Amino acid sequence: MRQPLVAGNWKMNGSRASAKELVEGIKAGVASAVKTQIALCPPHAYLADVSAMLQGTPVMLGAQNLCYASSGAYTGEISATMLLDFGCTYAIVGHSERRALFGEDNKIVARKFLAASKGGLTPIFCVGEMLEDRENELTEAVVARQLDAVLESPECLAALGGAVIAYEPVWAIGTGKTASPDQAQEVHAFIRRQIAAHSAEIAGKIQILYGGSVKGSNAAELFAKPDIDGGLIGGASLDASEFLTICHAAE
Ligand code: PEP
Repeated sequence: MRQPLVAGNWKMNGSRASAKELVEGIKAGVASAVKTQIALCPPHAYLADVSAMLQGTPVMLGAQNLCYASSGAYTGEISATMLLDFGCTYAIVGHSERRALFGEDNKIVARKFLAASKGGLTPIFCVGEMLEDRENELTEAVVARQLDAVLESPECLAALGGAVIAYEPVWAIGTGKTASPDQAQEVHAFIRRQIAAHSAEIAGKIQILYGGSVKGSNAAELFAKPDIDGGLIGGASLDASEFLTICHAAE
């Protein structure tokens, strides 16, 4: 039985004060979510504050991005070791916004996946198709290609057992359009089959999260699907009570 995981991706939102307020609100309600693993991914600038506030709670910390290199002349970047220093457990890699806005291709995503893993972090490896892909019935082909960047690298494959996958259809991110539970389940099952072709053991145990306009009102029906092991939550993770409702839905 896979443990559910709900991770909040705050993106580039909030202020130092609002971050603290949000964490206080979440801390106040997490005790009743006993089965669900919970993680918060604030902007890098607030990692230290959030890390200090999460001490002694079961809520874990994650980063929204990291550099593929471990140190050196990479102005503006942050390494896995630095994130580990702040108490991070997770690092998101391959988010569609990084792919679309910052030119991260499958090759870079695979390097970041490996950097996170080698650096002692659990990568949350995001995949997902664009609306045009879905309309052209290319969802599986696109997701397979994204997965292959990791599955076909022996080094990445060896690290996959310590990773999390997030299926995030790009057309559902921040749009208010959610994939139906059946649509999401279909792709999650496909992802698990693709992984099983390389390792049945990893396929059976890896958490596959759904992301894309998950809210308190639609989380339970998505999480009820057999291959959906929780969520990567954007907009709704900025509201403590909404985020907690989602965490409880994963119970
Ligand atoms: C995300 O950015 O990972 C995400 C799922 O965003 P939203 O929940 O706002 O669609």
